Amino acid sequence: MRPQDILLPVAAGLCCKPGGFHIDPVRPVERAVITHGHSDHARPGHGAVLATQETLDMMRLRYGDDFARTTQAIRYGEEIRLGDVTVKFHPAGHVLGSAQIAVSCKDTCIVASGDYKDARDPTCVPFEVVPCDVFITEATFGLPVFRHGDAADEVKKLLASVALFPERAHLVGAYSLGKAQRVIALLREQGYDAPIYLHGAMEEITHYYQSRGVALGELRAVKGMKKADLAGAIALAPPSATSDIWTRRFPDPVTAFASGWMRVRARARQRGIELPLVISDHADWDGLTATIAATGAGEVWVTHGQEDALVHWCKARGLAARPLDLVGYGDEEESETVTANEAEA
Ligand SMILES: [Zn+2]
Ligand SMILES: [Zn+2]
Repeated sequence: MRPQDILLPVAAGLCCKPGGFHIDPVRPVERAVITHGHSDHARPGHGAVLATQETLDMMRLRYGDDFARTTQAIRYGEEIRLGDVTVKFHPAGHVLGSAQIAVSCKDTCIVASGDYKDARDPTCVPFEVVPCDVFITEATFGLPVFRHGDAADEVKKLLASVALFPERAHLVGAYSLGKAQRVIALLREQGYDAPIYLHGAMEEITHYYQSRGVALGELRAVKGMKKADLAGAIALAPPSATSDIWTRRFPDPVTAFASGWMRVRARARQRGIELPLVISDHADWDGLTATIAATGAGEVWVTHGQEDALVHWCKARGLAARPLDLVGYGDEEESETVTANEAEA
């Protein structure tokens, strides 16, 4: 069977005709199969939604109880028959509950990775290589210039700065779903055991992580704290909050930003970031290329990000490769906006 007869990019997203569903649809559809909870992949308004329990819970937290007509939870390694295909979920290592979705029909297997990373993350199940015929990869950091390095070293940089400026607060911009919790867990691994402060917009999702058994130590709300009491403290906030009026409640804050984009100095400068921390929940160039090779796929479809270099790399290795022109996905870190209400929190 030709792969494009199994999965085809359409306006609503990746459509599986023989299975009667879409993967991560950007428009409301009858049946959606969803890789993870980030808002560009998990949207409200579908008929039936199949996803991991964590992804379903995150959608419920964000959109309310009626985010879909019906829902079905699936575990990693579990296989479900939909129409003429079977789908199987595998860990993507991106955020809690994130999955790659293997779609098999007759003797052809296509893996839609969603967003993924092969780097270590104490807050989610590690990425699993899934052998397949066609691998659909993201390409958020699909340029050789992107090499993320070890996230633990970046967290050590943050702690060195805290030790150096005990009278200042450290304000770390981090995406609310995934990145914030990973930064906290990495700080704990380095032995940092003081309370960590949270912006109101990330309290609920962070407490959800704790409820799923992710150890994050003592967390406190920034709200209600006296300025002087935040001297020497580490606080996490959505990236947009670190550049607005909200920061005035901190004593002489050092602003940090945890993102793969911090590899690009100009981005850090533009945002007025004093302490760029290269910590990403997406695979870097080495991670993308190593993963593509490890899947053994003879054909690679590249989506949302820097497709060209990765397509070129695949072709140079004799793999069939093409960009998928899917619209509506992007880097969550860059597209995140905080409502006025949340900024007050
Ligand atoms: Zn994502
Ligand atoms: Zn994404």
